[in-house]
Amino acid sequence: MPTPISSYHAHIYYDPASTRAVAERLREAIAERFSVRLGRWHDVAVGPHAQAMFQVAFLPAVFPAFIPWLMLHRAGLTVLLHPNTGRPHDDHLVHAFWMGAILPLKGEVLPEIEDIANLETEPNTAPTHPEPWDVKHP
Ligand code: ZN
Repeated sequence: MPTPISSYHAHIYYDPASTRAVAERLREAIAERFSVRLGRWHDVAVGPHAQAMFQVAFLPAVFPAFIPWLMLHRAGLTVLLHPNTGRPHDDHLVHAFWMGAILPLKGEVLPEIEDIANLETEPNTAPTHPEPWDVKHP
């Protein structure tokens, strides 16, 4: 049976006062290496998120290269990784996993059902380092 996961989001949290530059470097490193959709900067909390963050949307085929790389290169930033199955409440609160701390989420703003056709997953990066494992650890 095929997985019901149509895409994933990695939400990368930062503190606008102290770790935005770290987040900027991480975002650039992602853009250089992976075909993903980078979301806007959110320096103030939006939606279910309780802290500043930006979103990385990606298709399941990108997971095996991107997520292990992110585990090693998140530079101390907290990451929420959740699937998109059309059930936002469960995707964020039941099926997600965290790297670093577990932050609170405002579950009450998450609908039970959404149309996954409305999710934007078209990549907006143009990777110049096609082999992520060439990268030396910082
Ligand atoms: Zn998300």
